[in-house]
Amino acid sequence: MDRDAYSKRLFEDAKRYIPGGVNSPVRAFRSVGSRPFFVRGACGSHIRDVDGNEYVDYVGSWGPMILGHAHPEVVEAICRAAEKGTSYGAPTEIEIEMARMISEAIPSVEMVRMVSSGTEAVMSAVRLARAFTGRSAVLKFEGCYHGHADPFLSGAGSGLATFGIPASPGVPPEVAGLTITVPYNNLDAVRTALDDHGQTIACIVIEAIAGNMGVVLPGEHFLSELRRLTEERKILLIFDEVITGFRLHYGGYQDLAGIRPDLTCLGKIIGGGLPVGAFGGRRDIMEMLAPSGPVYQAGTLSGNPLAMAAGVTTLKILKRENGYGRLEKNTSKLCAGMQRIAGENGIDAAINRSGSMFTLFFQPAAVIDYDSAKLSDTRRFGAYFNAMLQNGISLPPSQFEACFVSLAHTDEDFERTLEAFNKTMPGLRSPR
Ligand code: PMP
Repeated sequence: MDRDAYSKRLFEDAKRYIPGGVNSPVRAFRSVGSRPFFVRGACGSHIRDVDGNEYVDYVGSWGPMILGHAHPEVVEAICRAAEKGTSYGAPTEIEIEMARMISEAIPSVEMVRMVSSGTEAVMSAVRLARAFTGRSAVLKFEGCYHGHADPFLSGAGSGLATFGIPASPGVPPEVAGLTITVPYNNLDAVRTALDDHGQTIACIVIEAIAGNMGVVLPGEHFLSELRRLTEERKILLIFDEVITGFRLHYGGYQDLAGIRPDLTCLGKIIGGGLPVGAFGGRRDIMEMLAPSGPVYQAGTLSGNPLAMAAGVTTLKILKRENGYGRLEKNTSKLCAGMQRIAGENGIDAAINRSGSMFTLFFQPAAVIDYDSAKLSDTRRFGAYFNAMLQNGISLPPSQFEACFVSLAHTDEDFERTLEAFNKTMPGLRSPR
């Protein structure tokens, strides 16, 4: 029998009722030419499928599971909260605790509003920026992902700094036309866009470290120059730290970089694996939100007690354990091992890493933006992904995603990963 017979059957069933068989497209494994395994459960650094296969997991639910899956304290906090009711649509004390913890950890966040996803967070932050500045355009970077709200589903037009075109049917050209897209790490393109359209731009939105074209790091002065340019022109700077918040240290990447954005978007880790997002920042801007101000934003499940319990508990554990040094050391060692083995096999591999997030790009050159990321050999990535899975390692099923290491990953997991990598590399030697 196939090692994934049950998953295969479930996928066929799923496709009958759910578009493409999944509730978020990347889960369908299309870009690696394969089909998904269905999950039975996960614990620590391991995830099990319905056929009984077990994998070391580097997806980590796409970032939230920094403590590993089903951390006993988080599970207990969720259960305790659930016993008292799962949603009230009324304020609770733990929402203040969550807001205080975020604000203390990220000094630029003077006030914060909880929502239920990263998409909602960025979408709402942009509405606020538009209201605060009285301008309509948004500048974002190619290859950055900020959720699926209309203004962000806009592809770059031709040229260096251009107004976007809809990247998905259903996004009106009028909406996409309010988004300017420029290449990441390209200050000249930003300056050109600001010179041409500065008067109409409400905000610049950026993933402080990009994770959605694979991991791409900002150049040395890139973010500080964005801060200077935006301040000069009274444009708001929004850091999308949905991935990087509490991932690289306790707080936002902005503290490490020494930059204070006007608004910050969060998600993933602050929900401890439950559906959460948040946006916050300068008090004078946040006070414009209803009910203190006129900018409307709301949510039936915002500040949900289960999500708050999971999130607050996760943040407390992160603060208590202060495991960021260990994450850095472990991930750096793992990446060094991969780089060495790839080299021994003559495979071109550029590994980008920041703390516990990394991407191995199948190409020889440095990856500094979306154009260079796209030079990667995605067919080779597909073969790599499937071979690693066969050998018990679950990676994100796309070249343009980040792998996440958690505090639950052990030396044994890393050894197993490098063994699988060692077995996989020779099979990838054939020319591109
Ligand atoms: N911003 C970034 C940087 C993200 O990585 C994501 C999701 N991967 C989002 C926003 C959207 O978050 P969500 O999927 O929770 O809507």
